[in-house]
Amino acid sequence: MLVVCSHCQATNRVPDGRATEDPTCGQCGQPILPGTPVELGDATFERVVARTEVPVLVDFWAAWCGPCRMMAPQFEKAAARLKGRALLAKVNSDENPQTSARFGIRSIPTLVMLEGGREVKRQAGATQAAQIVSWAEHTG
Ligand SMILES: [Zn+2]
Repeated sequence: MLVVCSHCQATNRVPDGRATEDPTCGQCGQPILPGTPVELGDATFERVVARTEVPVLVDFWAAWCGPCRMMAPQFEKAAARLKGRALLAKVNSDENPQTSARFGIRSIPTLVMLEGGREVKRQAGATQAAQIVSWAEHTG
């Protein structure tokens, strides 16, 4: 499957069954499916989500948002549990107005799940790691 590096936007081919084995980017050497959230922004978002063949869970947040800060450690826990199965990404909605506008983000935190660059579902409001994981695992 294909995974786009969130650091340098190189497209990497990850053999099936290797996704959980800390694959690294062939171009820059950074982990491409880490068990931690990656940062995406207006400059990187489209390319990463359009070509990455694992589900991408995006957390739209901002520094001034209390519930966002409360959810951050929960999102990190969820990233560890979904390692190799999904890419968890954070988008700062203040610093990345294009991406926020594209998704019509009106309240934060909002979680959006994408497959092949297309939104499959979203959920607004802070939530716990266990709920994030089960939400990601049960499409539809
Ligand atoms: Zn890279």
